[in-house]
Amino acid sequence: MTLDRLSPGSGLQAFPPPEQWDDWREYDPKQWPRRVEKRYMLVPTTCFNCEAACGLLAYVDKETMRVRKFEGNPLHPASRGRNCAKGPATINQIHDPERILHPLRREGRRGEGRWRRASWDEVLEEIGGRIRAALREGRRNEVMYHVGRPGHERTMDRILKAWGIDGHNSHTNVCSSSARLGYALWNGHDRPSPDHACARFILLLSSHLEAGHYFNPHAQRIVEGKLAGAKLAVMDPRLSNTASMADYWLPTYPGSEAAVLLAMAKVILDEGRADLAYLERWTNWRHFMLDRHPGDKPRFAAFMAELKDHYREFTPEFAEAESGVPRSRIVEVARLIGGARGAFASHVWRGSASGNLGGWQVSRALQLLTVLTASMGTPGGTAPHGWNKYKPVFWEEPPGQKQWNELLFPKEWPLSHYEMSFLLPHFLKEGRGRLDVYFTRVYNPVWTNPDGLTWMEVLKDEALVGLHAALTPVWNETAVFADYVLPMGLAGERHDIQSQETQDGRWVSFRQPVLRAARERMGESFRFTYEANPGEVWEEDEFWIELSWRIDPDGALGVRRWFESPYRPGEKLTVTDYYRWIFENAVPGLPEAAAAQGLAPLDYMRRHGAFLIASDVHGLQEAAVAVPAGAATDPATGLVTAAGRAIGVEIDGRVLAGWPTPSRRLEVFSPTMKEWGWPEEALPGYIRSHVHRSALDAAKGEMVLVPTFRLPTLVHTRTGNAKYLNEISHRNPVWLHTIDARRLGLRTGDLARVTTEIGYFVNRAWVTEAIAPGVVACSHHMGRWRLHEGEGSRWAAARVRLEPAPGGGWLLRQLDGLGPFTSADPDSRRVWWSDGGVHQNLTFAVHPDPVSGMHCWHQKVVVSRARGEDRYGDVFVDTQRSMEVYREWLGKTRPGPGPGGLRRPLWLDRPLRPADEMFKA
Ligand code: SF4
Repeated sequence: MTLDRLSPGSGLQAFPPPEQWDDWREYDPKQWPRRVEKRYMLVPTTCFNCEAACGLLAYVDKETMRVRKFEGNPLHPASRGRNCAKGPATINQIHDPERILHPLRREGRRGEGRWRRASWDEVLEEIGGRIRAALREGRRNEVMYHVGRPGHERTMDRILKAWGIDGHNSHTNVCSSSARLGYALWNGHDRPSPDHACARFILLLSSHLEAGHYFNPHAQRIVEGKLAGAKLAVMDPRLSNTASMADYWLPTYPGSEAAVLLAMAKVILDEGRADLAYLERWTNWRHFMLDRHPGDKPRFAAFMAELKDHYREFTPEFAEAESGVPRSRIVEVARLIGGARGAFASHVWRGSASGNLGGWQVSRALQLLTVLTASMGTPGGTAPHGWNKYKPVFWEEPPGQKQWNELLFPKEWPLSHYEMSFLLPHFLKEGRGRLDVYFTRVYNPVWTNPDGLTWMEVLKDEALVGLHAALTPVWNETAVFADYVLPMGLAGERHDIQSQETQDGRWVSFRQPVLRAARERMGESFRFTYEANPGEVWEEDEFWIELSWRIDPDGALGVRRWFESPYRPGEKLTVTDYYRWIFENAVPGLPEAAAAQGLAPLDYMRRHGAFLIASDVHGLQEAAVAVPAGAATDPATGLVTAAGRAIGVEIDGRVLAGWPTPSRRLEVFSPTMKEWGWPEEALPGYIRSHVHRSALDAAKGEMVLVPTFRLPTLVHTRTGNAKYLNEISHRNPVWLHTIDARRLGLRTGDLARVTTEIGYFVNRAWVTEAIAPGVVACSHHMGRWRLHEGEGSRWAAARVRLEPAPGGGWLLRQLDGLGPFTSADPDSRRVWWSDGGVHQNLTFAVHPDPVSGMHCWHQKVVVSRARGEDRYGDVFVDTQRSMEVYREWLGKTRPGPGPGGLRRPLWLDRPLRPADEMFKA
């Protein structure tokens, strides 16, 4: 409570006014009931605990120059001063007594647990030297950067292109590939941006209100939409907290979602609720008709008749049989969606799209509803993400690299979205290549990915991975198998810019090292951010600049020039130069807004932390396009091309921007799918999942495990050292319906063995009616483990023994649970919880979708009572068997090259896009 807020009638809603952020006074709550005044400097930054990039405000104690707490930044356009529990818990992470404060170099064998302190100079010299040798010797594909949480915009694209390598790997294929591909096939943008706040009907295929990708900003707006009268429907086999807040819960059997969505589309089509004028104007129906009836003049009425006929089998009865959702509820929701014409907001990101074989057709089917109701990019509708997400440009852009790395984009998945990241160890084991320098950055594949012990086996093999550097703010299960562990800053300890499609608008947020910023405001200066951070915790921006100069000290490799200052030619780029240039030159409206306050753009961002670039971003497909000389228009489709590229579409005599697809229309019919070997999937469709009822072995008692759901309080492995959060959430029991529990003889709290294709885990049962019968579920956040003392967070991770099992495979067993421990933080002696949950992902074989490349997370499992030898937290895995399952799924692919001998369609984007000629196989 502030001094000002203590005055009568001031209320508790106010935020500290920005003009007082240099010297904010409030009482120290720990001194209560004494009124002891504390003075703070308030420094904005950006949360780094999930990808939503909400604003934070660090309270820097002016007496101790320590951060006292993090609260919301009221000037942030997306989060508007509000945060979820994970935002303020950043304070736990920066003051965690177990965090890594200095660079560490391995001693002994990889994974043995012996480390010595290293200097940043030693780190830069060894890694820089190895990369230099790889570039000089033509081994460019042996350098790879693998990221879990990026937290910046385009930064690594620029750096890796400057190095001339095709070495960007990401976590997308264990996260969102399928949903992205489905969206991209429709409109060229691979994510949705729903305008929940103005919607008339909202459909979520997930527990998005409580734990979504853009959790807090979206949750605020979903609630606003509901308060304004919108209806909310949720598809989820679990009665999640989100479903419990919905007007309609549709507890779909896992993998049946597309069948339900197509049944809704059929209702809308059959009952005349579709917006025909919009469909005629913006879908590529002409391409469909020309494909089906070559030589005939395309007629829209005939197209509509064929479309209805195509979906004739998707009756509500069929959808009910597939999903278990009553047909009457499907029809009722379909009519409401049809009635929301122009204002239907929807979202699928992970959930059913990431759980199932063919999950990319879930977002294709969902987007069909958006298009039928003319809700694309309208107020209250669902925009393509690129309209609302800001991306910076730079003073100089390195050209696309002249490399194509088959470890990332192999021929078997020409349409993958994006890198086949989780198969990296399988490819290396198969002899498809080796790595000389491998960076993992805020990425923990041993724990997060399926088949983590195959990752471990490969990371331990120095013939396959020459040097592994783990850039991470906290210990994790993968860093244990590194040669260097390099501590990188948390939210208040680093620079980045971020922007996300959280709403109808476009914004940019600035993350900054708050102690450095506060001390610079007081007149100090720093060469590197680690001089102001705790210990020698650095930030990636400065690390990459320094490393790039070590790679190319004399500039002979052509790398160094990209890391020179735009303001002082020939001199080394600084982090200040970098952001100053972007804010001065590449954020529309920012220089003017800053000037109005008498500030330079960089100072404005340092003071405010965020800037709203635009709001009310609608209808951009209708923008007129300037047509260059020599452009040609296809009379049959209206497509306008110039220099071989589609630039727009002619409608009613005007050339309009349309969408970034080959036809510049919304592609209800995807020629790409047809030409690249999947003609049967060219329209939005329904692919029966690998966990469809017909795929289960009833004699074995197989059920479906949904292992993907999140909790609002944790995020992957980033929050393991946040004591507040682990006190709230530290168990992940297996949800089991009462009918199944009775059949299996299990009660809440009983130990159950959950057997997958490659192993099993032992966890406690939680018997509930909040899940569909035949389905079990387990949150993926918990079950953190540590092999050695000093290599993990004792707030969250149990000590384990990991050994070869007598009959083959690996057995991981918890040695003890969690409990009080002694550290510099007195709270560590007050840890009252003894359970950290069970790690399930280790027992999952890889399931790469043959089209999107997404790992299909859902599992066929057999649940039974635990056996006599089982202990809570046991995990058994057979990595030989996991390689066999990998090969079974490899057999489902339809390898490239595709038309024109291409490795991948030129129009489908990819991170770190190489030069166009590299697309040629
Ligand atoms: S939703 Fe929570 S964790 Fe994610 S950025 Fe916002 S405050 Fe941070």
